[in-house]
Amino acid sequence: MLAFPVPDISVQSVETAQTPLMRQYAAAKQQHPDALLFFRLGDFYELFFEDAHTASRELQITLTARDKERAVPMCGVPYHAAEGYIARLLRKGYRIAICEQMEDPKLTKKIVRREVTRVLTPGTALDSSLSSEQNNFLASLFFGENIAALALLDLSTGDFRAAEFSGPQAASLCFDELQKASASEVLFAGTNPMLAHKAELPATFDRIKTKTPLEDWVFTRDYAVPLLERQLGAASLDGFGLSQHPAAAIAAGAILHYAQNTQRGELGHIDSIRFYERAEHLQLDQVTVRNLELIEPIFSDSGSNATLFHTLDACQTPMGKRLLRASILRPLFDEPCINQRYEAVDHLRHDLILREEIRKALGGILDLERLLARISLDSAGPRDLLALSASLQYLPQLQRTLAQIEIPLWRHVAARLDPLEELCTKLQRAIQPSPPLTLAEGGVIAAGIDAELDELRTLSQSGRQSIAAIEERERARTGIGSLKVRFNSVFGYYIEITKSNLAHVPSDYERKQTLVNAERFTTPELKDYETKILTAHERSVEIEKRIFGELRRSVLDDASRIRKTGSAVAEADLLANFAHLAALRNYVRPQLVQDTLLELAGARHPVIECLMEDAGEGRFVPNDLYLDVEASAILLLTGPNMGGKSTYLRQAAMLVIMAQMGCFVPSASMRYGLVDRVYTRIGASDNVARGRSTFMVEMTETATILNTATARSLILLDEMGRGTATFDGLSLAWATLEYLHAHIGARTLFATHYHELTMLAEQLDHLKNLSVAVKDTPKGIFFLHSIEPGPASKSYGIDVARLAGLPPQVIQRARQVLKQHERSERHNVAAETEAPLQLTMFTPLSQRILDRLQETDINSLTPLQALNLLEELQSEIASSQGGKA
Ligand code: ADP
Ligand code: MG
Repeated sequence: MLAFPVPDISVQSVETAQTPLMRQYAAAKQQHPDALLFFRLGDFYELFFEDAHTASRELQITLTARDKERAVPMCGVPYHAAEGYIARLLRKGYRIAICEQMEDPKLTKKIVRREVTRVLTPGTALDSSLSSEQNNFLASLFFGENIAALALLDLSTGDFRAAEFSGPQAASLCFDELQKASASEVLFAGTNPMLAHKAELPATFDRIKTKTPLEDWVFTRDYAVPLLERQLGAASLDGFGLSQHPAAAIAAGAILHYAQNTQRGELGHIDSIRFYERAEHLQLDQVTVRNLELIEPIFSDSGSNATLFHTLDACQTPMGKRLLRASILRPLFDEPCINQRYEAVDHLRHDLILREEIRKALGGILDLERLLARISLDSAGPRDLLALSASLQYLPQLQRTLAQIEIPLWRHVAARLDPLEELCTKLQRAIQPSPPLTLAEGGVIAAGIDAELDELRTLSQSGRQSIAAIEERERARTGIGSLKVRFNSVFGYYIEITKSNLAHVPSDYERKQTLVNAERFTTPELKDYETKILTAHERSVEIEKRIFGELRRSVLDDASRIRKTGSAVAEADLLANFAHLAALRNYVRPQLVQDTLLELAGARHPVIECLMEDAGEGRFVPNDLYLDVEASAILLLTGPNMGGKSTYLRQAAMLVIMAQMGCFVPSASMRYGLVDRVYTRIGASDNVARGRSTFMVEMTETATILNTATARSLILLDEMGRGTATFDGLSLAWATLEYLHAHIGARTLFATHYHELTMLAEQLDHLKNLSVAVKDTPKGIFFLHSIEPGPASKSYGIDVARLAGLPPQVIQRARQVLKQHERSERHNVAAETEAPLQLTMFTPLSQRILDRLQETDINSLTPLQALNLLEELQSEIASSQGGKA
């Protein structure tokens, strides 16, 4: 079994506490052993035993005890404040069962009946503290023979999708996809051999806090398919693209099964599922998402504004933000779709007034998807309905504005946007402008909606007026000026008379209650009014609940229109956001071409540019780039540390990602052919905590690239081979470049501090040298951050060290050591005659021969030795030529 936070309830201690209440508790707990049981006792939810310990620790609330012997530890939270506490526990990965009182305690003499009405889990959370920028995904995994499937459901928005992967890489591709979803809970078949052996699990799976094994039968086609068909209201799964993908259907079915079993509402907002295949998108594996800091910074202390998501997010709605995030992780791979987006963005970019009009309307729209989900799952209050109607109010205007734009994609978005005017008016008319939080006391439904409700309200209103009149009259009759008629929820209406006036109390008053300074009385007349008012109130609350239920139903009847509108709003927001960024930051429209090239003129790094601007730290230096599989497929970038190599590499990848999202880019111009996948192997990523050395990680990542990249891919290799001894690293880097050149031919950027690799340009005709420009002055070096053709003139390690402030003695000594080292390195290498290839690689043959001759003292040589030396040199030349051939 997998470890997850299972509170271990001690059965023994339950048995020792043999009160009927605790027996009831134990029964409920037994049904939900893996959840924290919130047990309703009056105005509190109480937790007992281990649950109490856990909750008091996690929520920092006081632990008490139910009994004197303190055998039953207990802690509790007030029921009206429970949502906040529950949300905190869910974020920490716990699941929670809510056990409610099913009867009114006032109406029963026996112990109140209690039932678990809901089970809340991290993956099915709906509370208002969910981050609006991010989906809260519940994931489900299914593995078969050479096949893997992943389904994702965000219950809070109704976003439901599934993907399937096949082939020997299936499982790892599936985990890549899981990683991108940042799911908060994952479902899987409990006996799945792959997931049961914890040792082999990828970190992606490990990181998900809540892992929920389900019984195996849930993961079968016979169970999943009818279940999905019923939920989606479809006779077959053809229309959803799932018929040919049984594994994806199984994973999706398991999610549905789980959602239905944990929620009390009806999941009406889940009315479609999207099957997607990898080929539809530009593929980004987990390493790349992390390395490029697309969504999260690598080091959490560098702040979330160092991410591409943050840089590109000026969206107006939560739906837009979520779509932006998803688009960064899954850019498009379809030329017409991308071009349509460019066209739509371009139009808005040039029309400030239109753009602002659209963004303003979007700004008024709240989270339609989440509101709909809350309503559907019956956890919405009056204010949620009001918020929905307030949002709908902006739709007609938005639709009219969008429909005017003569651009196909905008027309398409406008067509999907349903103004929902009827529903909006209905809700607005029916609900008071500032309703209370809950329905419990009424006061939610506006006047004029229901005749009986209005009448009852008048009745209780006039009853109250009559009571005021009674007060007046009785004061006059008794002559007691301080006589008061009041109400409280225990005693109802009463007449209160202070002790000093008791002598004047008329004989028809009945004593009700005695206080320190006063007595309280009632009269038959007052009792009459009391009944009238209270029944009128009770009855009116009932009617309000009924009407609220009807309103909820009408929202649900429009659920699929609302969902469709929500997704249209998201797309409008995304496109308007791109247009806004383009105008604000001078981004240009990329040009998509057929050739496999990537051409940038004056490109900037989107994130660093913004950070520098914000900090007022000068300007980012723009750079050009030309990659073309026909001519210069591989660019080899050399130069000192801190010169800007890594920045240049990442910038290229980010611009491609942005371009394929349909976004404009920070560059003076951009031409590119579609990229199917971006690979990165950047820096020494520190995965030591997972028990693998950095070098091993680096080689694994490199292996993935060499095994799966295609000619359409974009490959970034930064400082490859750094994790091992110089010659090992250099040799691996050398061989890797040769392989990429000969077998893959993808657009490749290779940054290295191995100066020696620049010689490869002589052998590989599609490899070109670039270097970062450095100004070498007597005072030291300066980084210009511009990229120039040709190899770096030397390694600058010691110069950089000097810049960093190492003491002059150290710098001087380092230069001496370097000289000696370079010389002896040459000797050593020359001595290894059995590795002729390596010889030619690192020291040109002629140089070595010259060195040998120079080192030889001819005066001390015998003729025979001289002949031997000649022969040695000759055979070296011969063997090196043989090795080359
Ligand atoms: P390298 O990989 O060569 O060691 P980096 O790419 O890490 O260098 O860049 C070093 C520093 O230079 C970074 O702080 C980066 O912000 C800055 N930098 C890089 N390129 C530019 C540029 N084009 N304009 C301005 N600053 C740059
Ligand atoms: Mg670097």
